[in-house]
Amino acid sequence: MRGRERAARLIVQKFGGTSVEDSPALERVAAIVSRALAQRPVVIVSAMGHTTDRLVQALECAVVGDEAGGLERIARIRRDTFSVVEQFFGRDAQRIGSQVEPHFVELERMVRAVTALRLVPAASRDQFLSQGEFISSAIATAALVLYGMPAVLRDPREIVITDDRFGRARPDQPEIEKRARDQVTVLAEQGKIPVLGGFVGGTRSGQTTTLGRGGSDYSAALVAAAVGAAAVEIWTDVDGMMTADPQTVAGARVIERISSEEASELAYFGARVLHPLTLAPAIEKGIPVRVRNSRRPEVAGTEILPTVPADGHPIRSIAFKKGITTVDIVTSRMLMASGFLRRLFDVFARHDTAVDMVATSEISVSVTVDDVARLTEIRRELEEIASVEVASGRAIVCLVGQNLKFTPGVASRIFRAVEKVNVLMISQGASRRNFSFVIDEKDVEETVRRLHQEFFE
Ligand code: ADP
Ligand code: ASP
Ligand code: MG
Repeated sequence: MRGRERAARLIVQKFGGTSVEDSPALERVAAIVSRALAQRPVVIVSAMGHTTDRLVQALECAVVGDEAGGLERIARIRRDTFSVVEQFFGRDAQRIGSQVEPHFVELERMVRAVTALRLVPAASRDQFLSQGEFISSAIATAALVLYGMPAVLRDPREIVITDDRFGRARPDQPEIEKRARDQVTVLAEQGKIPVLGGFVGGTRSGQTTTLGRGGSDYSAALVAAAVGAAAVEIWTDVDGMMTADPQTVAGARVIERISSEEASELAYFGARVLHPLTLAPAIEKGIPVRVRNSRRPEVAGTEILPTVPADGHPIRSIAFKKGITTVDIVTSRMLMASGFLRRLFDVFARHDTAVDMVATSEISVSVTVDDVARLTEIRRELEEIASVEVASGRAIVCLVGQNLKFTPGVASRIFRAVEKVNVLMISQGASRRNFSFVIDEKDVEETVRRLHQEFFE
């Protein structure tokens, strides 16, 4: 029996930026964690509120030489953070404040350094952005302790081991498993609550990395997979995954259950409620993921499961992704010649640029990308083999549903709903779980609302 007890599994609870943004939010976190004590929670937190956005802005100021602007952004984060600390910790505020103060000193130092250099090395950028999670995790740990819970702060750089692709580092799962055993599981078995900042990782040589914007969800899944958790809870500011982004579609509804494949496609095509890579580590280990509202913990949220029975509805949800660039590659001679497509995709691959959508015709191939960091080089290489046109300011709209493929007539309903907009590219994924198309960014909100009306209202 004792052995069985020792092997009891943990759960991972991840709290997003709004779920730790102020004093009432921290109280809710404490209440949610305390209710989960019997399940041995491991807590992962994002930076508070809009901290990461402001850190990005501070760097943008510094890199063009606007030191005052950069320092002003940091001062604003400090002001907001300390006002939360004062409100929440009262008499202990000064002690907790002095624990987070070194992070602000570090941020100011880096703003000055970047201003002087007029550039931000990728490694420094990650070092800078990660301070938001260091601050929030220190505060969250102290908050749980104040409520009488045995929370212990851990450093994600020593657990979430990654390669050195700064800004979107890739995890080293076997190494994370080893580290998590010592630094997470052992603590939990002693009845403690490990707390760590999400989004941040570290290389084997100790450099700070980040997992990409929104990456705390991914941290939660990586840690959950590493410790063989019983479940992952993603606590956020909406009631779960919904039929569309509720910020765009007022009538969006919560999805009670969704298959992990559908949820992955939605995340990939822009539903930021979940980071696109979150589900992979959890799925591989068969760990269920639930998305829940930290303001309304009584709501069950969305359960993401390996498979979900059909409900007769062709579409589960509609996602969209702005900031898309299309690349049209036209050649009259070579398209069908063997090796042309391979050469073409090889160019994107060598520049480490993911292609989201592809459409081909007799003489052309069109692809979409959202990462344009290497587009100039890509274009130059493609122009050696074809003529190339690049257009930015576009958006992908994606309808997802595992029943899509069994339901005739969906495409005609989609096109009726969007007949007034100019559709630039269409693709039905090989899985036939998604139907996506590209339009101008300016048309996207209206299009999504119309589609939502057609399929859900
Ligand atoms: P967190 O800080 O908790 O990680 P995010 O802002 O990253 O929260 O994600 C939650 C937001 O995702 C919601 O406020 C909502 O506007 C947006 N969102 C986009 N698509 C969806 C969707 N299909 N369902 C639910 N929320 C969505
Ligand atoms: N704080 C990071 C971001 O805003 C990571 C996260 O919130 O998931 O992107
Ligand atoms: Mg998020």
